[in-house]
Amino acid sequence: MSEKKLGIIGGGQLGSMLSAAAKNLKINTIVYCDDKDAPAQYFCDEFIFGNYDDKIKILDFTKKVDVITFEFENIPFETLNEMNKAKPVLPKPSVNRLIQHRIAEKDFVNKLNIRTTRYVSIDKKSDIDKLEDFLPGILKTTTMGYDGKGQYPINKIGDLNDLKIDFSKGYILEKLVKLKKEISVIVTRYGNNNYEIYEPIENIHKDQILKNSKIPAQISEKILEQSKLLATRISEELKYIGTLCVEFFVDRNDNLYVNEIAPRVHNSGHLTIDAYNVSQFENHIRAVCSLKKISLRKISNAVMVNLIGNEIEPYRQNIKLQDNQFFYDYKKKEIKEKRKMGHITTLT
Ligand code: ADP
Ligand code: MG
Repeated sequence: MSEKKLGIIGGGQLGSMLSAAAKNLKINTIVYCDDKDAPAQYFCDEFIFGNYDDKIKILDFTKKVDVITFEFENIPFETLNEMNKAKPVLPKPSVNRLIQHRIAEKDFVNKLNIRTTRYVSIDKKSDIDKLEDFLPGILKTTTMGYDGKGQYPINKIGDLNDLKIDFSKGYILEKLVKLKKEISVIVTRYGNNNYEIYEPIENIHKDQILKNSKIPAQISEKILEQSKLLATRISEELKYIGTLCVEFFVDRNDNLYVNEIAPRVHNSGHLTIDAYNVSQFENHIRAVCSLKKISLRKISNAVMVNLIGNEIEPYRQNIKLQDNQFFYDYKKKEIKEKRKMGHITTLT
């Protein structure tokens, strides 16, 4: 039995699923989170509630664990860096710093000669005046955005006048891609050219929030191969350890664009729990805890549906599921509009 203690920063559903996967591998988990109601406390072995800049609590957490990982990318770099001086943080903090800034992230991808959407940095309202070329577009905060938060569609220059945008934050303006499909590729890297990769997952978003994911993705052989190659390449360039997800856009001419990189397990990979012999969560734990890598084998095709807001309610009332359906309740304290409350995976 392993004596290893894994620290996980962040206590949302991803932290819960990481904790559950660790438990199966007999690894103890301590979750550190700034939300005292965080659902991962019901899945981990120990829970510490504290702010991400509380030096004393962070130090206490660091002392208790052997290795540290995180479930979301918006943790202050300073916090991760301090922790990393005492115990290994995986993936390494520099990866997180790069990816948590949308412009740094896209610059990095472009330097690898991989296509992203067209983008430009915006610091003040008048910056947009001469950028008709980037419209229709989406204005996004450069940091801290998720599930479409901090995003504003801009169709024409005047649109900005109707929006109350706080320009004390930095923004990126991205040209809108005429989407044919969105896909994601999840890869778990264990070391140099040593990784496991899942087949591309097709994703449907509603109001910029992931609604459905499925395998197989309805894409050409070219896109399938290219997306896997690019995800692997990105993980190699970052010298990444653990599970990483690359979100891609496919346009109407079958061009592939990197949308964003998630340096963590990803919502679109929830179906890997039931559809593969090793889930993205178990793979992440294995990689960051230096356990053996297991060859991936798909068990079934699958469709995952996110339950957002009160869509969870009927399922909590014991709705009858088929034998090929698996329901997950994230046990969040409060149902909120646009909040991911759970999901259902159907093996197909
Ligand atoms: P988040 O960090 O919130 O996931 P994303 O940049 O991935 O932000 O945007 C969320 C969703 O909004 C995307 O999955 C896509 O559906 C849509 N979207 C964002 N940017 C663009 C774009 N440039 N062109 C077309 N669709 C976009
Ligand atoms: Mg996204």
